[in-house]
Amino acid sequence: MEHLSYSRIKTFSQCPKLYEYRYIANRVPAPSQLMLEGADEHLKIASTEQVPEFFKPAFERNFPLPVFEETIEADFLTFGLKGVIDVYSVQNISASIADWKLLNIPEDDTQLKIYALLLSQKYPQVVFFQCYYVSLKGNFFKRYTYTIEDIQEFEASLSEIADTIQTAKDFPPRPGQHCAWCAFIKECYQENQIPLEITQITTLEQAIELARKVYIAENFLDQIKAQLKTFLLEHGLDELVFDENNRMYLSPSIALRFGKINGRKKK
Ligand code: SF4
Repeated sequence: MEHLSYSRIKTFSQCPKLYEYRYIANRVPAPSQLMLEGADEHLKIASTEQVPEFFKPAFERNFPLPVFEETIEADFLTFGLKGVIDVYSVQNISASIADWKLLNIPEDDTQLKIYALLLSQKYPQVVFFQCYYVSLKGNFFKRYTYTIEDIQEFEASLSEIADTIQTAKDFPPRPGQHCAWCAFIKECYQENQIPLEITQITTLEQAIELARKVYIAENFLDQIKAQLKTFLLEHGLDELVFDENNRMYLSPSIALRFGKINGRKKK
């Protein structure tokens, strides 16, 4: 049975097309600078002494027997699950879990619930969980508490999500703000070109389909514009002008290139 993970579940719910590129076609994107930095920061915390100062009081109180960076797998009736827990501690009927984040913490606590569910399988006596997202660069943390009943309820909802993922046949694109960081936007844009001949839009389905393609195209162009901007700035053209939409004026005219357009913002 193929094990689900938080990354898989999050990717599928964000965009099934992205899931297809990443986990069905097994395409592995090059890690971004932010991902490399995050991995480095994680590696630095392998003992209590290395826990960040702002989190130490809470850590020393709630993690008496810390286990750092452990992979846990568990099989449920219809799905398998695995996760790498940054640090946890189990004492009698209580467990504490912490997940290091570089800066921002997620808007929801699905990842922590997955880890609590995995620990509940490894340590069946545990009935109370306290979990933390810890922002290493933000110097703050957020705490969540769950009972075993909360985690059992979560298991039931996860089982439905697992079923949807495991039986999926179609992986439609679901564009959104996340397209801005999508490593597969070029391929997605190629597969979802806006038709050159746009006939009249007559149905809602047509409108949705077209809106999706426009969203993907806009994000693709934004990525290209950002690359162009970086290149030009790095090559000494720091007087180029940009407008609010990061649009550049690549005119051969010296006047335009040197930012002499009235009312335009210079960067
Ligand atoms: S570009 Fe957007 S819609 Fe396309 S795969 Fe990536 S996230 Fe999904």
